[in-house]
Amino acid sequence: MQRAAQTDVTAALDRACTALREQASPVTVQRRALLEAFLGRTDHPTVDTLHEDVGRALAGINRATVYRTLETLVELGLATRVAQSGAACRYDPCVERHHHLVCERCGTIEDLFDAEFDALRPPRSASGFAVRDFSVLFRGLCARCARRRSKAH
Ligand SMILES: [Zn+2]
Ligand SMILES: [Zn+2]
Repeated sequence: MQRAAQTDVTAALDRACTALREQASPVTVQRRALLEAFLGRTDHPTVDTLHEDVGRALAGINRATVYRTLETLVELGLATRVAQSGAACRYDPCVERHHHLVCERCGTIEDLFDAEFDALRPPRSASGFAVRDFSVLFRGLCARCARRRSKAH
């Protein structure tokens, strides 16, 4: 699995701990370890994926804690949700503008950094919809699934 650079993770962890404390949310050892595990990931985990992975190292951490922590990070602007209709919500610790490549077969989500898409201007909506943020989502097959499919043919 691709991981974010360690220095970025440390900086993000400090930011998250400070923000949580400012909210009077306790940063327990368990919660800190959860944050560290999440902030280093680039695979956009669901609550369940993260709970499963972290649960092995942090015995007794419950799913509700994982969910609440992720939602708090989103509220604080330290994580985003990658919205996909009909699928479990995926969380992204990268809050810089970027875009996503979503594999329709295995559910992998890859980050895409591309200045050209960053420069897209949101259209003025006739309904009065106020755009706050945007990211482009491409659907298709990841390299692994595409290879597997071409082998099957
Ligand atoms: Zn795939
Ligand atoms: Zn992402």
